[in-house]
Amino acid sequence: VRDAGTPDDETELAIEGALRPTSLAEFVGQQKVRGQLQLLLDAARIQQRSPDHILLSGPPGLGKTTLAMIVAHESGRPLRLSSGPAIQHAGDLAALLSSLTPGEVLFIDEIHRMARSAEEMLYLAMEDFRIDIMVGKGAGATSIPLDLSPFTLVGATTRAGLLPNPLRDRFGFTAHLEYYEPEELEQVVSRSAAMLDVGLPGTARSEIARRSRGTPRIANRLLRRVRDYLVVHGPSAGAEDGDADVRTVGAALDLYDVDAIGLDRLDRAVLDAVVRRFRGGPVGLSTLAVAVGEEPETIESVVEPYLVRIGFMGRTPRGRVATPEAYDHLGAPHPDGLLR
Ligand code: ATP
Repeated sequence: VRDAGTPDDETELAIEGALRPTSLAEFVGQQKVRGQLQLLLDAARIQQRSPDHILLSGPPGLGKTTLAMIVAHESGRPLRLSSGPAIQHAGDLAALLSSLTPGEVLFIDEIHRMARSAEEMLYLAMEDFRIDIMVGKGAGATSIPLDLSPFTLVGATTRAGLLPNPLRDRFGFTAHLEYYEPEELEQVVSRSAAMLDVGLPGTARSEIARRSRGTPRIANRLLRRVRDYLVVHGPSAGAEDGDADVRTVGAALDLYDVDAIGLDRLDRAVLDAVVRRFRGGPVGLSTLAVAVGEEPETIESVVEPYLVRIGFMGRTPRGRVATPEAYDHLGAPHPDGLLR
């Protein structure tokens, strides 16, 4: 899945790591989820046991990995990171689970992409901290039970609907992360700007927040691009000492094809295809994916949720449709009978 704003070099990754909040108190927004997690962690601490298994769903970059790290940090437990695509066989999972230390937090990103055989092993492991290892093949095959240390699984997925029910049911707590409000993203930008030592007046902070597609990771990435622009071009004439003002922000983000409401090139390509090529839809997901040369999963879990959220696209049983707001944004004339 194309990750909205995933840094692609090591320096950028290190910066992203440094900007991660390490406590629930520092984690901006998602107030309800934060409150629920706090209760879960407090209860586990009082009862001196591992916190329940946690499932986090939502589009990329909204803070699932960060929350897993916070769960480990706040409960004073070590954290092991893995991902669905790395677990291709039940044996991969058995090796991982049997190497966990007591109480360890195991984070499995993209848990919906784990092998089926591993999913079944995980049910038992989550419920009874036990797995059955199959030895041999055919009629002579036997299973050897293996006890595991208690652990807390934090699973993350962009597609909760793809998880089989028995797996979903074994999480004691599930939360869906929503896109952030501009005011919340402004807080993310302020915090990061202070940490990166970038001077940024309020208007410039809100401009970055407005263009961040509801996603903290994108807010941090855009801030880094604004900082680059400032380093190379210096502040605009009239800006406060060394500050990046709204003009600097606008110029930097235009350069990276982030439009005035934060849509990137792929978002606009998808909208443009629905509006112009398929005359407003309905158009099926795979046809749309071919038209823009992207994976259907990327369209479905990254592009579409945001376009639906801002009211530019609708999902009908017959496919995706564009709304009048999408036509307006692209400057395309409304066809007859569009207003639905
Ligand atoms: P993916 O599933 O693509 O890995 P994710 O949902 O796990 O994405 P994170 O990696 O946790 O997202 O977050 C991306 C970046 O956004 C982090 O560097 C973190 O600093 C920042 N971030 C995410 N959520 C918040 C938040 N609520 N407050 C402050 N910063 C945040």
